[in-house]
Amino acid sequence: MGDRLAGKVAIVTGGARGMGAAISTLYAEQGAKVLVTDVIDDEGEALVKEIGGAGVDRVAYRHLDVTREAEWTAAVADAVERFGKVDVLVNNAGVLRAVPIPNMTEDIYREVIDVNQIAVFLGMKAVVGPMVAAGGGSIVNISSIDGHQGTPTLVAYVAAKYAVCGMTRVAALELASVGIRANTVCPGATRTRMMDAPDMAGVDIEAMSARMAPLGRIGEAHEVAAAALFLASDESSYITGTDIVVDGGATSGVGVEMFSQVST
Ligand code: NAD
Repeated sequence: MGDRLAGKVAIVTGGARGMGAAISTLYAEQGAKVLVTDVIDDEGEALVKEIGGAGVDRVAYRHLDVTREAEWTAAVADAVERFGKVDVLVNNAGVLRAVPIPNMTEDIYREVIDVNQIAVFLGMKAVVGPMVAAGGGSIVNISSIDGHQGTPTLVAYVAAKYAVCGMTRVAALELASVGIRANTVCPGATRTRMMDAPDMAGVDIEAMSARMAPLGRIGEAHEVAAAALFLASDESSYITGTDIVVDGGATSGVGVEMFSQVST
């Protein structure tokens, strides 16, 4: 328990599991009131019960399909009605489809862009009014190291994650004057169920992470949540329009394998 988010109200999308659950839990532990949202309602309700130890009246679950603007309007209104305001939005919901370009269909491409990119725009748009009313706020968009570099088979996902880094900078520029900061967290490979997606079958993500990240292992959801906590809190009050990369050093440069023979 702590007080790094005391008095703040947060909405977290895709909050029922994985990083979203880790972020929701950490925010609640640090004193925030949290509206956990997702489309997997049973898991969302269960998580809120689990967080209950932190004070169940401070945490609630609501269905929110982030691709639907009307659901955004209703969810943000719900947060204001339950908790009085909105200070923090974490756009975390995402889907991963790994398909080489020749086999990628327009439907799959559009689905990935809808959830990972357009929804981030809808979310930012939906919270501006309440955040202005609250005197400011912090938008935390979960992008990826795939927002900084290409990865084979992830043409739609990479496009969306690059877009999120760019859209966040636009939001930072437009909204600074009304006290709203906007930043991204860019995780590298992190142990969540996204890594179990059918398209990822045959990819040994643990071994790949051990090879590619100088820190020699896959990331954990709580390590991404720690960055999202910093960006939501007033500790980051002079930080806007930037990315925090949480990848064990994987995108620092080339050379881990190349120089392994001469390293310590
Ligand atoms: P996850 O699959 O465990 O969680 C994603 C969540 O998003 C799920 O709870 C899912 O139900 C929800 N979701 C999917 N479509 C939705 C929709 N239309 N509306 C609302 N919610 C929806 O994966 P995760 O790893 O926890 O992913 C969280 C975020 O982190 C995503 O944006 C993902 O792209 C990003 N990310 C993950 C990794 C990784 O290695 N796991 C790396 C970089 C970035």
